[in-house]
Amino acid sequence: MDYPAIEINLDAIRENASALTALCGKRGLAVAGVVKCTCGSPAVASAMVAGGVKQIADSRLENLERLRNNGINSELLLLRSPMKSQITGTVKIVDISLNSELEIIEMLSTEAVRQRKKHDIILMTDLGDRREGLMPGDVIAAAGAIIRMPGVRLAGIGTNLTCFRGILPSPQNMQLLADLATEIEAVYTIKLRWISGGNSSSLKMIIDGTMPAKINHVRLGESILLGRETAAGELLSGTEPDAFCLKTEVIESSVKPSQPEGITGLDAFGHIPATSSDNSSRRRALLGIGREDTVLEGLRPCVPGIKVLGGSSDHLIVDVEDAGRSFGAGDIIAFNLTYPALLGCMTSSYVNKHYLGIHPEQKNIGIRIAGMPVSIGANRTGSELAPEAVCTRLKEKLAGVGHVVENWGNIAEPVLYNGNLTPEQKAALLLKTNDCLAQFTVKTMDDNRFPLAVGGDHSITAGILGGLRQRKKNSGMIMFSAFGEFNDAKTSMTGNLHGMVLAACCNRCDLRMVSIPPGMPVENIVLIGLRNVDSAERKLLSQSGIKIFTMEDIDVLGMHEVIIQACRRLTHCTDGIHISIGMNFADPAEAPGVLLASRGGVNYREAHLAMEALAATGMVCSADLTELAPVAGANDQTAEFGIELLCSLLGQKII
Ligand SMILES: *Cc1c(COP(=O)(O)O)cnc(C)c1O
Repeated sequence: MDYPAIEINLDAIRENASALTALCGKRGLAVAGVVKCTCGSPAVASAMVAGGVKQIADSRLENLERLRNNGINSELLLLRSPMKSQITGTVKIVDISLNSELEIIEMLSTEAVRQRKKHDIILMTDLGDRREGLMPGDVIAAAGAIIRMPGVRLAGIGTNLTCFRGILPSPQNMQLLADLATEIEAVYTIKLRWISGGNSSSLKMIIDGTMPAKINHVRLGESILLGRETAAGELLSGTEPDAFCLKTEVIESSVKPSQPEGITGLDAFGHIPATSSDNSSRRRALLGIGREDTVLEGLRPCVPGIKVLGGSSDHLIVDVEDAGRSFGAGDIIAFNLTYPALLGCMTSSYVNKHYLGIHPEQKNIGIRIAGMPVSIGANRTGSELAPEAVCTRLKEKLAGVGHVVENWGNIAEPVLYNGNLTPEQKAALLLKTNDCLAQFTVKTMDDNRFPLAVGGDHSITAGILGGLRQRKKNSGMIMFSAFGEFNDAKTSMTGNLHGMVLAACCNRCDLRMVSIPPGMPVENIVLIGLRNVDSAERKLLSQSGIKIFTMEDIDVLGMHEVIIQACRRLTHCTDGIHISIGMNFADPAEAPGVLLASRGGVNYREAHLAMEALAATGMVCSADLTELAPVAGANDQTAEFGIELLCSLLGQKII
């Protein structure tokens, strides 16, 4: 594991959501689960949904879009009034938005009409905290104006307190909100769906039973994540306060005088440093995290006796004299977090995110191999022989690494390249075979095994992903390939399906390669090893949003850094990564036995390094090996290389 790292206990978050939705439910309030503090993490949102929240809410449109693309099917609520530049996206992605600016609502209405939709509005009123919202005296007239707009629906009214000026919810201001709702309903003879009575600072009134009955909705973030209400900062019974744990690494351990020495100026942030009267020398540890990553004052050491002294952009200094044990370089010091500290850690790309629980780390769950004797998607025959050359040896080798392995052999009849067929005819044949692979994958995952497909040409990846996505909505993919594989039938110069498979995986291809298309979001995909692209494809690919590491990137960054960057991109939005290995990503000197060789590829050592680095992430959930074209009966060098790569990928641990 790389440090600093934040561990996110999804089971605790689900339990907290469950406790608070039950509590609010008893008082007649529905809960929107707010995930903005985790940068809109789909895993956290899923945990909240599992705990019973009615909607998922965030203040950033891009987070909501990622949530929608990653299988969050609940109603999505935009907490912050959209910007004028976000109108189209808001109507497209979001079900309900909190609004306080009539000009913006007017634009939402116009856009909704254009998109043939109705967009729901919760009109915000400012009950004293002086952040967003119309003044109460303006609410009734504004409600009337909204009701007259054709594209929007007045779904309710709401307020937000405490965040800016610390104004607490009270029986008075909450009653005012309730009265405004009653008046709107009477004046315009409508029924408001939601009367949204604030955030985690409203829980105290809900618990005390002083919340007016008319209020039927709250938006809860901090209380679900950190188990506290925020009016008095009290712990909520039945919740786990430590769902997040920050782990940092000691980079220096030494005994130093507590007093600084020399002439005092300003510190790194322009502040006058605090003085201390302590003249002793004490043991302190320097930790590899800083103000760039978090709010140091919000860190609560888990070991009693450790005290946070302060820090600068990249360093944190803690006093460990009274910790009862020594901390040397390389030791780990753990912290629990306040809200601002958590916000910082989740936002910092330097803090690794580790999700625990709900999808528990499972070791040695067993591997199931499927052979796919397919070359229908290729430029020639040959790849249909790869399962024969690979699967038996692969099973032996993986068993040697200590895995329980089942080899199911070829799971479909061979479908071979035929130059007389149109792309549409080929796709129809491929679809049948890929459906077998999708079913195999679903069954394998249901049996708690790791699906491993051996192709075949690269078009089988659509099949395994088609299955994977039915079971793992938050999955991502790293594809190794020399080619872009991002054509569709219109741009393809050859009509070969393997050159369209990446487009098919994210539903950007007009030919269907599996009955239930994977529909993988482009931001969940990374392509590595690219060096051969058609010109129309280049444009499509560079505009697609798929993260690409070309051979040039690999030369400049090194393979290890490429894998780290790829995983960093994927960890936030995925809970598992499919690895698709098109053997042509390797250099033909090492892997000559492929369907279509391309010079200047990844060398032997880099290829292994990539697989080892991926294994170390613990996020690999399925894999395929494709594009091999062994010669019948020969002891094939390229097949052997592919087997070795899969062993590296699966050698240390699975998932
Ligand atoms: C952040 C936010 C919330 C959630 O606040 P918590 O204190 O984390 O519960 C609710 N509503 C709005 C408008 C917000 O911006």
